[in-house]
Amino acid sequence: MSELGRLTDSHGRNIRDLRISITDRCNFRCLYCLPETEEAADFYRREGRGDPKPIQHAWKPRTHFLNYEEIERIASVAVGQGVTKLRLTGGEPLLRRDVPVLVSKLSALPVEDLALTTNGFQFGRHAESLRDAGLRRVSFSLDSLDGENFKKLTGRDGLEEVLAAIRQARELGFNPVKVNAVIIRHLNDHEIEALAEFARAEEISFRFIEFMPLDSGRAWQKDHVVTGREILERLQARFDLQPVDREHPSATAKRWRFADSPAEIGLITPVSEPFCGQCNRLRLTADGKIRTCLFSLHEHDLKPLLRGGATDADLAEWLAGVVLKKEARHHIGETEFEQPDRTMSAIGG
Ligand code: SAM
Ligand code: SF4
Repeated sequence: MSELGRLTDSHGRNIRDLRISITDRCNFRCLYCLPETEEAADFYRREGRGDPKPIQHAWKPRTHFLNYEEIERIASVAVGQGVTKLRLTGGEPLLRRDVPVLVSKLSALPVEDLALTTNGFQFGRHAESLRDAGLRRVSFSLDSLDGENFKKLTGRDGLEEVLAAIRQARELGFNPVKVNAVIIRHLNDHEIEALAEFARAEEISFRFIEFMPLDSGRAWQKDHVVTGREILERLQARFDLQPVDREHPSATAKRWRFADSPAEIGLITPVSEPFCGQCNRLRLTADGKIRTCLFSLHEHDLKPLLRGGATDADLAEWLAGVVLKKEARHHIGETEFEQPDRTMSAIGG
């Protein structure tokens, strides 16, 4: 591979991780992502923010989505330029048809890691075919273990389905099975210990994520964020936790292991302790835009190249040029911070 082809940004960071969103649609309405339910409006009203002021996000027509051949092609070019991790996400990726077909195409690429992030609601019916297609790792979102609170948080009465999906993933041999929770003050912060206990008992890797300003209601405020430090202090008061070395300097989570279980706790702290300096990620949206940061205000449209006869070498050169423009860091909490037009659901977390 020529040096020219490598994906290295102007801050010396090598891109290794490509997050591929395959749809912006979702069957949930999480209060921190698509707060479009009455419960979400009530919560934010009570919190003193007035009614959420929604971003006018129109669903992209499905015809705008890249097809699986196009996704495979761009992934293959990026892998040739040094990407070693691919993650399928959304929106809810399992709302797209025939995801195992895409998984089998991507699993044929020489990557170290191919994973999927899902809310789990429809995982059960696809689980075996995803595994048979070559998927090895899956991350679920689970923010509450209380049926009512789960419904308030996600807009969907789906706790049992998600718990069943997590257990099924373990039984089918997905490894590791990770579970992510976004913790929001006055909403699910009283469940931190219970969620950790769930992780310990089920022997899974559990990640607590700080709430970021990427919700469609633009309702985020700093007071809602429960910091990783606070979560850790609470967990250390309750459990015997031992620190675990980072998998890689670019890993987003700081990790701890339970003394009496192989389960792990990870803290992802983009707001209180940003890790931009080590960021090695690039994102591809369902409609074919490359985003160099979750908080990018500019994106780079691949479709004219993909559909305009560009060769793989053209795509590689273009990608390398885009990566050079990767932002040094985000500006959450600073006066110049500007929330991007796209919500987390339309970027791909
Ligand atoms: N629908 C799938 C799911 O929920 O797992 C995949 C897409 S979702 C956008 C990916 C991840 O982003 C989830 O773990 C979710 O909790 C996280 N997320 C969404 N909005 C967020 C926000 N405002 N702050 C922090 N994390 C967020
Ligand atoms: Fe929730 Fe994921 Fe859907 Fe966003 S994309 S509303 S986080 S399930």
